[in-house]
Amino acid sequence: MGKIIIIGTGFSGSILARKIAEECGRKVKIVEKRPHIGGNAYDEYDENGILIQKYGPHFLNTNNYEVIKFLKKYSELFRYDVKLLSFIDGNYVRLPFNFRTMQQLVGDENSVELLKALRTEFAGRDRVPIFELLSSKNEKIQSYGELLFEKAYRTYTSKQWGIPPEEIDKSVLERVPMAMNFDERYLNKDFQYLPKNGFTKLFENLLDHENIEVKLNCDAFAHISFDEENAIVKYDGENVDLLVFTGAIDELFGLKFSRLPYRSLEIKYEYFNTEKVLPCEIISYPQADGYTRKTEYKQFTYEMGKCEKTVVATEYPLEYAPDDPKANIPYYPVLTEESQMIYQKYLDEVGKYKNIVLCGRLAEFKYYNMDICIEHALEKFEEIKERLG
Ligand SMILES: Cc1cc2nc3c(=O)[nH]c(=O)nc-3n(C[C@H](O)[C@H](O)[C@H](O)COP(=O)(O)OP(=O)(O)OC[C@H]3O[C@@H](n4cnc5c(N)ncnc54)[C@H](O)[C@@H]3O)c2cc1C
Repeated sequence: MGKIIIIGTGFSGSILARKIAEECGRKVKIVEKRPHIGGNAYDEYDENGILIQKYGPHFLNTNNYEVIKFLKKYSELFRYDVKLLSFIDGNYVRLPFNFRTMQQLVGDENSVELLKALRTEFAGRDRVPIFELLSSKNEKIQSYGELLFEKAYRTYTSKQWGIPPEEIDKSVLERVPMAMNFDERYLNKDFQYLPKNGFTKLFENLLDHENIEVKLNCDAFAHISFDEENAIVKYDGENVDLLVFTGAIDELFGLKFSRLPYRSLEIKYEYFNTEKVLPCEIISYPQADGYTRKTEYKQFTYEMGKCEKTVVATEYPLEYAPDDPKANIPYYPVLTEESQMIYQKYLDEVGKYKNIVLCGRLAEFKYYNMDICIEHALEKFEEIKERLG
C-alpha cells in the first residue's frame, strides 16, 4: 500500500487523519507548516494563564448534533452562547442587530410603528438578512435598513474585505442577519459550545492515534511534485495513494492562474492590570479607524476571576501578503465573481490528478465555519473510505 499524506492540521486535515487512521487502519502522515497543530482554531495560554485563541475568536455553533457528538469524543464541551456588542455613534448596541438595537438607534417612540411593520412583514422569521430590509416595499423598513447599512455594514465590510460591500458575494453579508426579536445571542444555532480545555487539547486528542505521524514546521510544497504523465501527485518523489490538501489551492499550483484574494489579520494585544475592561466578550467597531473587533478572551473561558490581569486583542484586517510577517496568513477567502472564476481554473487543474482530495476553507475557497468544515470532512471521509477500499 502507498502512503497517505495530509497537508494541514486544522479541523479538515485532523479529522480526516483520525478517521482514516482509525476506521481504515491506514498509516497517515500529517504535515503542518506552522509550529503547532489546530490551524486557525489553535489556542494557547499566555503568561497570565489566560487562554488566547491566537488567530481570532472561535465558537462552535451548529444545528447538526452529529458535529457535537463527534467532537465530544475528543473533548468535554461547555455550553457557551456568545454575546456581542457593536459600538455605533458612541454607544454600545446589541449585535445581532435585534429589536433592542433598533430601539437604541431610532428611539423608543419611533420604534413602535417600525416594530409593527417588521413583525408583520417577517412574521415567523427569526433572522432576516439586511438585503431583505433594504428591498422592502415598506418605507419605514427600508429606511431603517439603509440606516443600519450605512452605520454598520458598509464601513465594517469595507474594512474587513478591502472592497465595497456591493462587490462581495451576498452570502458574506448574509452571515450577519438582523434578529426579528429581542434575542441577544449572536448566533441562533441550537448547539453552541467551547471545548473545556481549549481547542488545542481537542486537536491533540484527535491526532493521538498510533497510525498518525504529525510533522510540524514543514512546508509541504518543498515535498510535492506533479507527475503529469501518470496524472498523479507525488510526495518526496514517491507515489502516494492519497494526498489530502487543506491549504491554499493557488499556492499548491504555484499561482499558475494568478493569486486568489484572501484577507489577513494583524492582531494586536493590550494588557491591563485589572479584572475586566470590555462590557462584553467581543465588541465590533464598524466606525473605528482600521480595526474591526476587540476580544477580551478571559470573558469566555473558565479563567474569568482566576487572575487579576486581562488582555484585549484588536483585529486589523489587511490584504494577505505572504512576504509580510504581519499579513502572511490567509484567513478569509474573498468571494467575488472574479475570484470564483479563478478558483474554477484551479479546480479543473486538480481534476487532472487522480490522487488529490481537497478539503477545507482554503482548499475549497469557501467561507466555511468550523461546523461546516467538520460536517464536510466527515462526508469527505466516506468518499475516501470507498476509494481506499
Ligand atoms: C478570525 C476568525 C474567526 C473565526 N471564528 C469562527 C467561529 O467563531 N466559529 C466557526 O465555526 N468558525 C470560525 N472561523 C472559521 C474557522 O477558523 C475555519 O472554519 C476552520 O479553522 C477551517 O479549518 P481548515 O482545517 O479548513 O483550515 P485551517 O484551520 O486554515 O487549516 C489549514 C492548515 O493547513 C496548513 N497549511 C497550509 N499550507 C500548508 C503547506 N504548504 N504545508 C503545510 N501546511 C500547510 C496551515 O498552516 C493550517 O494550519 C473563524 C476564522 C477566522 C479567521
